[in-house]
Amino acid sequence: MKCADADLLAALMSLIDASPSPAHLVRNVVKRLEASGFQPLTEELPFELEPGQRRYVVRDGSALCAFRIGNAPLEEAGLRIAGAHTDSPALKLKPRPELETREVRSLGVEVYGGPILATWLDRPLRLAGQVAVLEGEMVRRRLVELPFHMTVPSLALHLNREVNEKGLILNPQTMLPVLLADGREKIPSLEALLGDLLSCAPECIVGHDLIFGDATPASLCGLGGEFLSAPRLDDQAMCCAAIEALCGLEESLDTTAVTILFDHEEIGSRSNRGAAGAFLGTMLRRMTASLGKDEEAHLRTLAGSTLLSLDAAHALHPNHASLHDPTTPPLLNRGAVLKVNADLHYGTEALTGGQVRACCRRLGLPLQTYVHRADLRCGSTIGPIVASELGIHCADVGPAILAMHAVRELMGVADLCSLTTLTSAFFTAAEFAPDRASARQG
Ligand SMILES: [Zn+2]
Repeated sequence: MKCADADLLAALMSLIDASPSPAHLVRNVVKRLEASGFQPLTEELPFELEPGQRRYVVRDGSALCAFRIGNAPLEEAGLRIAGAHTDSPALKLKPRPELETREVRSLGVEVYGGPILATWLDRPLRLAGQVAVLEGEMVRRRLVELPFHMTVPSLALHLNREVNEKGLILNPQTMLPVLLADGREKIPSLEALLGDLLSCAPECIVGHDLIFGDATPASLCGLGGEFLSAPRLDDQAMCCAAIEALCGLEESLDTTAVTILFDHEEIGSRSNRGAAGAFLGTMLRRMTASLGKDEEAHLRTLAGSTLLSLDAAHALHPNHASLHDPTTPPLLNRGAVLKVNADLHYGTEALTGGQVRACCRRLGLPLQTYVHRADLRCGSTIGPIVASELGIHCADVGPAILAMHAVRELMGVADLCSLTTLTSAFFTAAEFAPDRASARQG
């Protein structure tokens, strides 16, 4: 794949700005896939697949599996699967959010995943996501974004004199309700606001999954514009890389390339479209069955398959350098980061890490390594979950990022290109081919 940095960066920035929720992201990814000749499959209908096809499946609006069937038999070539996640930490609107005090109208929230709460304050916030709408006797999902911004103001320093010495501790129940209106006049209910947007009666709004996020668009910063400051870089940046890599592949492929975008990674992946659920396993089983493979051939296919798990890595923070292992501090704009953890919180092992390293070496791509300090608790990714559910190999890579889980995160613009190029290479590279001699070698 040829990598045009400016085009890729523009694609990511507009994707982020147009994707305030996982469902918006998936809608925009579908547009990109269809422009590259991918056609939809419906899970409720039979799959009829043939080599050469480009297809995609959306599950419940916020997770997606897209694939290109290669010419080589699956049980001989295995599958190359690039995976990322569509969700990010956020403030999620409660089911009945309206809080009426004498003074103002606010909306109550729950905390989704592990955001750095203090960074959500004093920002214009947008509210977006999926709404369940009653249409006749059917309940359908509709995408929505409120047409105005809201905010959670900080408490003044004069009322919290110790904030800079003791840090900002926020009780999410009492201190994070989002300011909606000044309370002078009676305002429409949330159902009425949503009904207005979706051209239906308020009583037809029967459910919602709506989240708040930073409304300020993605922007470049740094002396030469070398940093990208944006909300949801973890993991929308890698959703973008995985989709662009898949769309940019050659016309005719031997290997079968899959991109899977899971939801619910930030809350443990346990859902029908999270990495611990059956989504990917079901897709792969139906793919092999539709191509005429029996159970034995399906299991041989999985045995020869590899997941490249794409998720953010902790860049060295120059103001907190001692929190990194001194041997492997990833830097911004120095290439992809291979993530390694002894307890397999990341899925990389000697073999798969070696495959990534050898592939990067052959292509002249920069590669860094990350290992957490041994005295700190490590995060995790979809990688080890998928590897254990399906029994496939896994390597964990990602861009070095600062301010992970803040309302805006920071990455190096050059790393987007490095990760996309690496993912593109992974889909076809000889380094990841099944090794049939390995059983004899022990
Ligand atoms: Zn992530």
